[in-house]
Amino acid sequence: MNKINYQRELDQLIEGIEAEGKVPTLLLHSCCAPCSSYCIEYLSQFFTITVFYYNPNIYPDEEYFHRVKEQQRFISEFPTKHPVSFIEGDFEKDRFYSEVAKGLEKEPERGARCTKCFELRLGETAKRAAAEGMDYFATTLTISPMKDVELLNTIGAAMGERYGVEYLATEFRKKNGYLRSTQISKEYDMYRQDYCGCVYSYQEREAQKSK
Ligand code: SF4
Repeated sequence: MNKINYQRELDQLIEGIEAEGKVPTLLLHSCCAPCSSYCIEYLSQFFTITVFYYNPNIYPDEEYFHRVKEQQRFISEFPTKHPVSFIEGDFEKDRFYSEVAKGLEKEPERGARCTKCFELRLGETAKRAAAEGMDYFATTLTISPMKDVELLNTIGAAMGERYGVEYLATEFRKKNGYLRSTQISKEYDMYRQDYCGCVYSYQEREAQKSK
């Protein structure tokens, strides 16, 4: 099966939006400020963005609150063509452990636990986008070289259908998006974590460090 060129599809969609002179609204799920940096720089040229910080997977609590603060600081300091605002979802940790991690604690990163983690976060984003009357929703997760873009976009589209809101399929690491995010992160002196987010990825990172 041919791999879908998500960036080309997004380019075409943006061309159409521009031709119509529209600036649609977009609820952008963000995993962290560094990953969001390029996504915001790029998409805010065409969309009015609300960044949605919904990541109940993050461990420990201090890490969660630190990531939220960095996200808010970046949005307040970064100049954009169209406005970018911020909303924080519930930090419902129990939901992550009961709906995502239960029975999958030993899974490696990119395994079955991660699929459920994406379903939780993208499902909640789609639900919120529908409630807020957004034109589209998307996620910054497709910028990461560690993540399965095909899987993320498949889950995003399914959640969009479930909640009746259009999912914007992306592949932000194309067009050097990941590289650009590292440059912006340096420029804004941003905190860059070295593990995905949950306690299991934290433990994996600690084990690698001690080797
Ligand atoms: S490794 Fe990352 S994507 Fe996978 S379950 Fe943990 S936080 Fe979620």
